[in-house]
Amino acid sequence: MGWFTRSTAKKQQTEIPEGLFAVCPRCKAHIYKDEYENAFKVCSKCNYHERITAAERIRLIVDKGTFREFNAGIKPNDPLGFKDAKGTYQEKAESAIAKTGLHEAVVTGSGDIHGLRTTIAIMDFRFLGGSLASATGEKILLAAEHALRMKRALLIFSASGGARMHEGIVSLMQMAKTCAGIAKLDRAGLPYISIMTDPTYGGVSASYATVGDINIAEPGALIGFAGRRVIEQTIKEKLPDDFQTAEYLLDHGFLDAIVNRAELKEYLHSMLLYGLGKKV
Ligand SMILES: [Zn+2]
Repeated sequence: MGWFTRSTAKKQQTEIPEGLFAVCPRCKAHIYKDEYENAFKVCSKCNYHERITAAERIRLIVDKGTFREFNAGIKPNDPLGFKDAKGTYQEKAESAIAKTGLHEAVVTGSGDIHGLRTTIAIMDFRFLGGSLASATGEKILLAAEHALRMKRALLIFSASGGARMHEGIVSLMQMAKTCAGIAKLDRAGLPYISIMTDPTYGGVSASYATVGDINIAEPGALIGFAGRRVIEQTIKEKLPDDFQTAEYLLDHGFLDAIVNRAELKEYLHSMLLYGLGKKV
């Protein structure tokens, strides 16, 4: 029987084995999962930078085996006894803790970047949208004070929807508190580098994320205070398509650089050397 009439001919195998590929959320390209993970979730086709966790960020930036977390036990406070139709703040915080294995939306600690000992704070958007509240602010302030005490540079990676509404004014107060800590570093001549990742909004963009000696962002990160929809409704005008992207902000002088994740560690290392007055 001829090949083309054979009724039992095996259909060409087109199914993709499950788990072998990651799909880029933006361009939908299929990329080998290993390749995607090794690139720290950056699409090799369109350079989309997917959000990563604090633990992944530590693996990306910090020399292996040098990260020492501190103040890991600081947990959310509930000064207002807040609850809404969906439940209490305490329940939400407990479920965020169970989901992420973190106690707050920021991880702080000490770690080396190519041998340079640095104090680092890394926000994790999975924890209540990376919101800034009293415990988050406290950890960031303690990190700034740690850098000051140890005479080191401070790095903060922001990823946040803004202040945590469940703590009301106490959350907003963290904006001044964290900036006061960073101002002390400035007076001591110690560098602070702010790295804005997707997304950086609200009370975080209006405080410590944008007061770095160097303010940088990852490609495509959305950065702003109020969101696009709120602004459009207020000013009754259509905003440019690239409004609030890192690229738009760089063009308008709000950022010093946009750095690809693959080059981020090298970039930070040279900026740290420069900031600490060492030879690059
Ligand atoms: Zn892509």
